[in-house]
Amino acid sequence: MTSPTNASVAAGSLADLLFRSGPIALFLDFDGVLAEIAPTPDAVSVNPVVIARLQTLHSALDGAVAVVTGRAMADIDRFLAPLHLPVAAEHGNMRRSRDGRVVVLNEAAMQVVPELATELELAFGADDRIIVERKPSAVAVHYRLAPERAAECFERVNAAVGVHSGFSIVAGKMVIEARAAGADKGAAVRGYMQETPFEGRTPLFIGDDITDEDGFAAAQQLGGTGIKVGPGDTAALYRIPGTSSVPAVLDAVIRSREFLS
Ligand SMILES: [Mg+2]
Repeated sequence: MTSPTNASVAAGSLADLLFRSGPIALFLDFDGVLAEIAPTPDAVSVNPVVIARLQTLHSALDGAVAVVTGRAMADIDRFLAPLHLPVAAEHGNMRRSRDGRVVVLNEAAMQVVPELATELELAFGADDRIIVERKPSAVAVHYRLAPERAAECFERVNAAVGVHSGFSIVAGKMVIEARAAGADKGAAVRGYMQETPFEGRTPLFIGDDITDEDGFAAAQQLGGTGIKVGPGDTAALYRIPGTSSVPAVLDAVIRSREFLS
């Protein structure tokens, strides 16, 4: 991995990059990028200004804007309403293309989720600070309100995944998740980059968490770049200070397209 210092690049040079780029395909993580992280997953909201910018970007990039997230697809549609963007949900296991078609990578995992989720709900049911989130093909255990139980959450999820095959473990910011094996954000980016309207464009991936590293790597292997939001080790070539800086990046992408048109 590139050291954090190498990844710190002035905003000016990011603007230079955007103005130098040909057509851009934009890939956006949700939590910590389009929405500030909240105490519980349901408590987030998206600033209407961000939704308006996404709408503008959707036009400016000829539809080549996708959300790539660990969340379920229905969550993203609800938070971004009235927008209905291409979404790679649950770390890319369920990927909706621009034409509305949804591809599921690992369908077997969906059959096992109820059992796995019930097991984890029973394990943590006595502590309402720990949120067990059921998704169609994944189960996330959020411990932001009980950080002292992090190690125990990891052990429980690890043990459950050991029993129920078809899942891998991924740790994010105050969350440990059993996600469908074979899904990651890099595969989602590569999938989109073979489809209209993304194909042939330069991918730009903006993310804030460990799971976004696969997205950064894929974007950069395909001739584009990653933008890391906030601190932490990353392979992304660019970094911005925090979620509140994201609208400025979206604006810079919009301006660079206006300049080229
Ligand atoms: Mg995130």
